[in-house]
Amino acid sequence: MSTATRRASTPAAPDWTGALCAQTDPDLFFPAGHNQASDTRQAKRMCQRCPIQRACAEWAIREGIRDGVWGGLSEDDRRPFIPDRKFGWGEGVQRCLDQQEVLEDRVAEQRSYRQIAEELGVDRTSVRRAVQMLRREEKLAGGVSA
Ligand code: SF4
Repeated sequence: MSTATRRASTPAAPDWTGALCAQTDPDLFFPAGHNQASDTRQAKRMCQRCPIQRACAEWAIREGIRDGVWGGLSEDDRRPFIPDRKFGWGEGVQRCLDQQEVLEDRVAEQRSYRQIAEELGVDRTSVRRAVQMLRREEKLAGGVSA
């Protein structure tokens, strides 16, 4: 199965038009075996030149995709930012992300995590994790080096 087919068959996938991984060896993006580290680095370098890198990375994080390199992020890179409904973080992170505009406004206003948590009806840890995740996504706009 090609990378494009594997990716297009995943629910709620973005438009993969222009995806660079569709033009190369699909196994590179699902590294395994003794070449795992070098394949991961090579896949990440290709992602950094891909026109849909950000959408790809955001989607992989939001969908809790476990395997492979997506948007320049390996499985290990994504794990801390994956919403809890897939990986056991509390409902609070998802609730924060569902109210992303409010969350971003409050962070811009330099409100404390406690104040934001009270307003959104979640705990402070959920706010902190959601903010970390959004900050990580912002970094993706400028290219991922992780
Ligand atoms: S960012 Fe990487 S994994 Fe995502 S579509 Fe582009 S080349 Fe493929």
